[in-house]
Amino acid sequence: MIQLADRTAMISPSTTLAIAARAKALAAAGVQVYDFSVGEPDFDTPAHIREAAKRALDEGKTRYAPAAGVPRLRELVAEKLRRENGLNYTPDQVIISTGGKQAILNVMLAVLGPGDEVLIPTPYWVSYPEIAKLARAKPVLVPTEAADGYKLTAEQLRQAITPRTKMLILNSPSNPTGTVYTREELQALAEVLVEKQVAVLSDEMYEKLIYDGETHVSIGSLGPEIFELTLTCNGFSKAYAATGWRLGYAAGPHHVIKAAVDIQSHTTSGATTFAQYGAIAALEGPQEALVAMRREFEGRRDLMYAGLQALKLPCPYPRGAFYAFPSVASTGLDGDTFCARLLEQEHVVCVPGSAFGAPECVRFSYATSRATIEKGLTALARFLSRLD
Ligand code: PLP
Repeated sequence: MIQLADRTAMISPSTTLAIAARAKALAAAGVQVYDFSVGEPDFDTPAHIREAAKRALDEGKTRYAPAAGVPRLRELVAEKLRRENGLNYTPDQVIISTGGKQAILNVMLAVLGPGDEVLIPTPYWVSYPEIAKLARAKPVLVPTEAADGYKLTAEQLRQAITPRTKMLILNSPSNPTGTVYTREELQALAEVLVEKQVAVLSDEMYEKLIYDGETHVSIGSLGPEIFELTLTCNGFSKAYAATGWRLGYAAGPHHVIKAAVDIQSHTTSGATTFAQYGAIAALEGPQEALVAMRREFEGRRDLMYAGLQALKLPCPYPRGAFYAFPSVASTGLDGDTFCARLLEQEHVVCVPGSAFGAPECVRFSYATSRATIEKGLTALARFLSRLD
């Protein structure tokens, strides 16, 4: 029998994908399911982006691209980061990868190794600890408080840093909590990072989904010293409703991006060539579709949040992304049991907070129709009333 490598024992399967699969299986069996587990926009990729990729196929853009990405796309990403985020990267400081997830993996493999500690504010996106472990580093979970909107404070950061701390992972807007850091909060974190010379991986995947007129701030834009310590990760999946295209990017200091490109050149050889031409159109073309999607998500956020409030499931007000993350402690159930029973009794699908390091919570994604949100909340109300 073939023995598995020890690294497989360190990695847990993605709970979110497993639950989404269960929901799909139920739906395929004809059951009416109210699915709040999905982590992807329910819109189609805007037509001009799809057309550009089709054109690229017809024009023969079907061969290898440079491992770091199509040069025009790297240029446009650098331009976008300069214009929108105040980050002065040159195109050769940008790597295009197969989804935001692989961009994160590449830069973590480039800088982390045995003995390095990676600070992960908790609740966290499921893949951070697992990717850190793949890079042979040690994930250090740093609890944050619902009362603080699940934001890491400068004091908590300072206390968590040890001589072995190499990196902090920051995710604003956050999956799963929907929290968004303000400029002042990021400034306070940046000061500690600069003082202690700890790098920050800033995962800005949901930057286009911020509500109430608030704006996204990139931590790397807050001064030359923090810029040198920042790895900015982002992608096309959520902003352009393009999860299946598998296109993301990272930007950072030259030596890190060069190492990430070397790694990528020996693994995937780079992102799919014709898909990258779609991404070029995404950045060059009109951005109205993004605004329309954001507005729709904001309306759904209002609906979801009001519904959870009415049901007395406390949750910090989600300011970005498309998730609400209530605590279910008041029901007497933990998140795992709550999700399992809710699925079984009412066919409402949500993700247990244990997947995100917060076992007393559950995650509801509102990347689904308003009708589903309304019916799902009614089903949830029925479920809760039976628990009383
Ligand atoms: N970062 C966060 C916070 C995410 O939620 C996701 C996807 O769910 C990603 C990164 C990865 O995005 P992609 O689908 O482009 O790999």
